[in-house]
Amino acid sequence: MQRSTYEKVFLWFFLPAVVLIYTIKAYPGFLTGLMGIDDPFGTFFFVGGKSPNFWYQTLYTGIIAVICLNLLLLGRNPYSKKSTPLSKYQKLKFTSILIAQTVGFYFFPFVMPMLKTGVWQDRAPQVIVQVEERTSRVDLEKEINYSPTAEKFKFLLYADNQLVPESHYELENYRKDGSFFATAINLYSPLPAGTEVKATAFHLAHKMAHVYLSPAFFSNFAFLYMFLIIPLGVWFFGKRYCSWICACGNLAETVGVTPWGNKWVKEGTPRGDASMKAEWIQMIMLIFSVVVGLSAILNAYHVIHPATYDRLWYLQDFLTDFIFGSLIGILFYPFYGTRMWCRYGCPMARWMKIFGRWSKSKFAVVPNDNCQGIGACTQACPMGIDVASYAHKEKKPIETPFGLAGTACIGCGGCIDSCPVDALSFQNVTAKEFIIADAKKVSS
Ligand code: SF4
Ligand code: SF4
Repeated sequence: MQRSTYEKVFLWFFLPAVVLIYTIKAYPGFLTGLMGIDDPFGTFFFVGGKSPNFWYQTLYTGIIAVICLNLLLLGRNPYSKKSTPLSKYQKLKFTSILIAQTVGFYFFPFVMPMLKTGVWQDRAPQVIVQVEERTSRVDLEKEINYSPTAEKFKFLLYADNQLVPESHYELENYRKDGSFFATAINLYSPLPAGTEVKATAFHLAHKMAHVYLSPAFFSNFAFLYMFLIIPLGVWFFGKRYCSWICACGNLAETVGVTPWGNKWVKEGTPRGDASMKAEWIQMIMLIFSVVVGLSAILNAYHVIHPATYDRLWYLQDFLTDFIFGSLIGILFYPFYGTRMWCRYGCPMARWMKIFGRWSKSKFAVVPNDNCQGIGACTQACPMGIDVASYAHKEKKPIETPFGLAGTACIGCGGCIDSCPVDALSFQNVTAKEFIIADAKKVSS
């Protein structure tokens, strides 16, 4: 792949920056440990009172929003070599991405809670108390707003900079407007005179994502989402969720239409039989997610040891989320295109594909007899599908629709909008039409 000097310089920064950003986001306590700071939850990385996750999401959403607005305002087709206008489909797609990302994945989870509570900080101000004589009770000079369920606003207590386990104390608190405020700490073992007590509370990073499917096993909403809403969407619209809505797909889709991203997709995306066969890896990821989800149920009924359950969750966090979803998913953009995670990792994508095939989803990309065998469609496909092989044979049109039965198509429309002779379109076709078209492909 030919790269300009600017691009090479960018890559020198991009690779270490991605590793650092995702490590801070996922394992801040590991980094503070390496730095020799006794801060197992990585509160050191809070900036301006906000968590690393907040800043990460702000950057992530900002990049997507800027690219979408640029595309929608300029109105140029990013898939075509010629200067043609942005199609209606792409306008709708990038508007959907913009709204899904800024409203669904940013405003609701990160801005609305601040508006609701009027609290900007993800970290409560630290209260420091110097213990003057041996005591089991420490009055907090300033109350600390925290969440007793711990996942959202976790209370932390340090004695002489050592974290005190939650099992070693209980909090005196009061409740106001649904929020908890700690006013004093009762310790089960007294603290010696001279101990410095630090108390604070902060938001933990949200690492669970619905694309791992496992939440469907312990959340009613996730269950409905995975087993009703997503299947219905797949039946009517194929895997367009991946190119119109999903947070991971939003970045892949927008970066993939920038000048460099376009080149990464065209020249880097693995294509050919071997790369298609390797998509079975995604099946392993799906099975693993289901096992992790089932372990939550088994743990709730005390069928498996809690330690086994914890290990499985840790593995999912580390392997699926951190290594595959974050590092490989993003680091590989400049080398193998923007959809490595979506093609080989994402459990939900495999579930959508299985359901689409089984339910005979009507979604299809349909070639017509305009095809002249140019091949721009195959090059534009971020999922490595050989679109041209469905459109022509030795430059003669064969008009074979394809959907989720044999391909990982996400309905991005890149192939359609890159074709200079309008030889492709999206259509709803019945199972019978697929069979007829397949027979045509074989006989031509
Ligand atoms: S493949 Fe998975 S991660 Fe990628 S866009 Fe689809 S649902 Fe999202
Ligand atoms: S076949 Fe076309 S619509 Fe489907 S993923 Fe590839 S480029 Fe997008």
